[in-house]
Amino acid sequence: MTAKLIDGNALAAQIKLEVTQQVIALKAKGMTPGLAVVLVGEDPASQVYVSHKVKDSEQVGIYSVLERMAADTTEATLLAKVEALNNDPAIHGILVQMPLPKHIDSQKVISAINPAKDVDGFHVANAGALAVGLPGFWPCTPYGAMKMIESIGLNLRGKHAVVIGRSNIVGKPMAQMLLNQSATVTICHSATVNLKEICLTADVIVAAVGKQNVVTADMVKAGAVVIDVGMNRNAAGKLCGDVDFDAVRAVAGYITPVPGGVGPMTRALLLVNTLKAACA
Ligand code: NAP
Repeated sequence: MTAKLIDGNALAAQIKLEVTQQVIALKAKGMTPGLAVVLVGEDPASQVYVSHKVKDSEQVGIYSVLERMAADTTEATLLAKVEALNNDPAIHGILVQMPLPKHIDSQKVISAINPAKDVDGFHVANAGALAVGLPGFWPCTPYGAMKMIESIGLNLRGKHAVVIGRSNIVGKPMAQMLLNQSATVTICHSATVNLKEICLTADVIVAAVGKQNVVTADMVKAGAVVIDVGMNRNAAGKLCGDVDFDAVRAVAGYITPVPGGVGPMTRALLLVNTLKAACA
């Protein structure tokens, strides 16, 4: 079997088109959705991510501001910036790019964002809302991964979904979203002893580790859906995921590529969340 590709670029383009149309409709009513992206320091990867986020926003008609702050910005100054954005009526979504410099307590900064503007979905109010099934903002990466699963028409009810990784931004919310769709969910992490055996029983595998080849072909049941969240550089410096793509593709039913998979979906879902914040 050769797995079908779930094309993140194509799905993201479709979502962006829908957001664009909704933004046009909102603007006609005199409302322009606004997103503020805050970057502290000059981490090269973060610079690329924030420039993409700003460019995407502009493409769909969302007003965006990029707040660049020096690497030695104090926690108090950053918190004051967040508070100013909380109070800015032109801004509906606030995203503080992670990671922050070590001298700043990230959790404190996330907690300072008004949950109604927390388009990253990292605030405990939104994490809690997801956990108990209340409306709120879902973190963009697992939300994007869910949209990819949705796109193939898979009914998750009763399916065994294995999430590898338990971070607050990907693994845990991913597991929660799968659970909310009535999948039977197993969360694996660095202390999991029998990862291969667990994965072999999975109908859906979501790999969110950050290590190349964590998922190999001998770990995948024939026909399984494999979602690769990982972003790594291989020995040649090329972007790759956590999944041994070529080998797993020969076994799986569906697979997401890296690049062109979860990455563009994450960016698209940020726009969806920003639009939702503006409509609230
Ligand atoms: P993270 O916070 O480092 O979490 C990694 C998780 O993987 C941890 O829960 C860790 O377990 C687990 N893990 C580590 N080694 C393992 C192993 N050998 N077997 C099983 N589990 C293992 O990373 P993250 O922020 O969730 O991100 C995960 C990956 O997704 C990274 O490559 C990141 O770059 C990528 N990512 C991509 C996007 C996108 O837009 N495409 C967005 C966000 C993240 P412990 O908890 O026990 O340490």
